Amino acid sequence: MKLRIGKAKDNDYVVDNPHASRYHAQLVRGDDGGWLLEDTDSTNGTFVNGQQILRKRVTPADAIALGDPSCAVTLSEILRYNNDYSEEFAALKKVYDEYIAEKIKVQSSNLFRARLFQSLPFALPGVIGVTIGFLGKGSSWLFGVSLLVVICAPAIGIYLGAKQSAKMPGLLQEMTVEFRKKYVCPKCGTYLGEQPWDLLANKKQCPACKAKWVNE
Ligand SMILES: [Zn+2]
Repeated sequence: MKLRIGKAKDNDYVVDNPHASRYHAQLVRGDDGGWLLEDTDSTNGTFVNGQQILRKRVTPADAIALGDPSCAVTLSEILRYNNDYSEEFAALKKVYDEYIAEKIKVQSSNLFRARLFQSLPFALPGVIGVTIGFLGKGSSWLFGVSLLVVICAPAIGIYLGAKQSAKMPGLLQEMTVEFRKKYVCPKCGTYLGEQPWDLLANKKQCPACKAKWVNE
């Protein structure tokens, strides 16, 4: 992540200081989460705790001054104005993709199982009926059994199929609840709806809180 600091209005942290340059310095976050302060060719120099620097690792308590060492702010103060949520927003792509993939999986597997349950019993009684009829020629008991199978099996199949289909909304609802919690603006927490991540990325910022989603 990179935060630009300077007098120009489109910096991540805007300073109202006559000694500061338009694009005075930048803060770069390292892989370890630490911050590196870099002077970006400013006219009057960048200072950390009163010492002029070109590049220096800074901690939250360090006093950073642009151009004039007497008007310094701490790193933690600058970070409070941070509006760059591009890393957190980028991570939402996985949340969206996984949700959609899981949803399709649940829907298709349930549909398949429901159909299987419903169609199998229709085919089965015919086979069983023929087998029983073949085995027990003349036995009225076996005839009764085969008749029962032919009548009951489709009803059971329809029941099981319906039960399976009924499970689906419950599972999907659970998934949607989880998704609604995760698929939110990293800054203000507004739920982003079931809108594709790419579509949101095109907006570049949160319509609600103006947090920067995509860094150019
Ligand atoms: Zn927001």
